[in-house]
Amino acid sequence: MALLEVKDLTVRFYTQEGVVTAVDDLSYRIERGEKFGVVGESGAGKSVTALSVLRLIDSPGQIESGEILFKGENLLEMSESEIRSIRGDEISMIFQDAQTALNPVYTVGGQIAEAIEHHLDYSSEEAKARTIQLLDRVGIPEAEERFSDYPHEFSGGMQQRAIIAMALSCDPDLIVADEPTTALDVTIEAQILDELRELADEFDTAIQLITHDLGVIAEVCDRVMVMYAGKPVEKAPVEELYYDPKHPYTVGLMSSIPRVNDKRERLQTIPGVMPDLVELPSGCSFHPRCPFAEEKCTRKEPPLTDVESGAEATLDTEHAAACLEYTEGLSQGLTYSVETTGPADGAAAGYVEGDRDE
Ligand code: SF4
Repeated sequence: MALLEVKDLTVRFYTQEGVVTAVDDLSYRIERGEKFGVVGESGAGKSVTALSVLRLIDSPGQIESGEILFKGENLLEMSESEIRSIRGDEISMIFQDAQTALNPVYTVGGQIAEAIEHHLDYSSEEAKARTIQLLDRVGIPEAEERFSDYPHEFSGGMQQRAIIAMALSCDPDLIVADEPTTALDVTIEAQILDELRELADEFDTAIQLITHDLGVIAEVCDRVMVMYAGKPVEKAPVEELYYDPKHPYTVGLMSSIPRVNDKRERLQTIPGVMPDLVELPSGCSFHPRCPFAEEKCTRKEPPLTDVESGAEATLDTEHAAACLEYTEGLSQGLTYSVETTGPADGAAAGYVEGDRDE
């Protein structure tokens, strides 16, 4: 049985501007211990997906339909008290901003110890000992002395390490991490991502990692789902996505990963912006930004398709993409170049310009 199985999830927000479908008929699966990345620009629906898994969608948002099965049990049918005991105990969350996750008036160690006492039924001495051990394990120097520090006495990187310690403190089966390192500088970011991956392996914890940065996915994940305007547009094992991306949006995201020794004059970015979710473009919602768009892309919505067989994708499909090229074929096909030495070294991809008829 999969650890987490999200089936046909639709989440809408009823705003004054209109109804926003933030997540539209989304399905994915995370196995035990698996590191699963969700990537896309802001507005893609990544964070709403994460909040749905924790049942933290508040009004005016609403989970309209679908199932979220955690160890086979539908989280959407659980009572508030059942879901509260799963949150923090079996599923924990790491937010982007450590400052909002740490209460400034309590010591860092005290906050982690309290969570351990509460969820694992430890005595206060046992909880303190485990907290010091965890702080040490996530790389806080002199953990015993730092136990009594307040959050403001920690640097940004140390605060984020403390949040990771807190997330791991109750030995959860799944950590949902939403842009966990975005606020940090790149060197600290790389260290913390390494640490997160290592610790999750050691504790056999699965991760759902949400980010706008494919480079971050490469550091941590085994599989990845690329989202655009509330829908998955590509799903693949990480290596395959880097060597052989199948969706034009993925190629656009790859071309904007900054790399050391980048010889291109400037980073290519995807033209345009994420569409207004109240009024999505017709057909393929990526068509106004897609360099390969043809007339039929404005009429037909491409289903998520097995890129090998052209059959409709299922949860078992290894590599799937939602582009008409894989169902009915485009008259000019997709032409882009991908050069990569592998996910760990970054990747370069770019739309090939000038070889298509306008
Ligand atoms: S269906 Fe058309 S617009 Fe959409 S990604 Fe494929 S080529 Fe681009």
